[in-house]
Amino acid sequence: MKGDEGVKEDGAVGTVKTIGIIGAGQLGLMLTEAAHELDARTICLDPDPEAPAFAVSDGRIVARYDDVEALQRLADESDVVTYEFENVPSEALSRIAPKIKQGVQQLYDSQDRLTEKENACKHGLKTPKFAAVDDEASLREAIREIGFPCVLKTRRLGYDGHGQEILRCEGCVERAVKMLDVPCILEEFVKFDFEASVILVADETQIIAFPVGQNIHKDGILDESILPLPAAPEFSERMVEASKNFMRECGYLGILAIEYFVKGDEFYFNEMAPRPHNSGHWTIEGATTSQFREMVHFLLGEPLEEPRLVGPTRMWNVLGRDMERVPKSPAEGEYIHMYGKKEVRPLRKMGHVTTVKR
Ligand code: AMP
Repeated sequence: MKGDEGVKEDGAVGTVKTIGIIGAGQLGLMLTEAAHELDARTICLDPDPEAPAFAVSDGRIVARYDDVEALQRLADESDVVTYEFENVPSEALSRIAPKIKQGVQQLYDSQDRLTEKENACKHGLKTPKFAAVDDEASLREAIREIGFPCVLKTRRLGYDGHGQEILRCEGCVERAVKMLDVPCILEEFVKFDFEASVILVADETQIIAFPVGQNIHKDGILDESILPLPAAPEFSERMVEASKNFMRECGYLGILAIEYFVKGDEFYFNEMAPRPHNSGHWTIEGATTSQFREMVHFLLGEPLEEPRLVGPTRMWNVLGRDMERVPKSPAEGEYIHMYGKKEVRPLRKMGHVTTVKR
């Protein structure tokens, strides 16, 4: 399937490229849709045979993320490989690293909340105060330094608020000690005005940035993204410039999403993701080009397009508990994306709805 001669959508005969995607969730689904629009194919690898992207991908490999032979097959059958899932074991990736055009350093740097924050500080971004915590003594020492309220998080494998506990007073410490069977990080609890994310795509010559959106979380899960940001344009520009400098200094390529806490005139790095991000789903209709399309441009070695906001945009996530709120048919300027997941769980991301005012 790799690099086949084929007739592209515009009728031109050329080499149709194949993108291998590790993960076949909704991000793989939307990456595949963007790839098809740009005349490329995808093969996805995922342990779940019912994963959403398998419904649209051109090839499928049902295998675990640490199955070295399956990853090798994905690499052999693809011209270029990317990941839509962050917790791929690094040992499994090392063999196919030459096929991963964006590199793997940003993936490794994002897999551990402690190294991620140390790296952010080292490259000029402010973070909430933090300290490594491995046992009760280091937890108590970190609380003395950081104070209440604070947040204890597992260093690895945390997502959407999983693996974290807010500590408001001495009484919470005993409960938190139970989390310490794995390495943790203690963070200052930031009483932010709002949360925001910057999404960037970099190739060897330039870095493009999507308009900065405000993010509202409920129960630790993204609920809504709203554009434009409720701040002066100069503030967004500062966030974008700092994010670009960070990406450039780290030498990261491909896509990077950085989540920030905004308080007064300052913004604090919370975490980063080297893959398309939920807070960028609005870009499919709300921007002149989307995060998925620009990542595919990067993967295909095609020039990146600088995105612009089409008009005020709002995206809300449809979790399993929200299925009844999904409109039966879209109103004007409304776009309903359901991911085709069969099993509905209250906190599972089932789809999203975007509204754009033109
Ligand atoms: P995370 O998985 O670290 O992105 O956390 C999920 C959400 O929990 C964030 O988007 C915030 O809404 C909240 N949160 C996490 N860490 C902190 C913090 N240090 N201070 C305040 N809120 C936090």
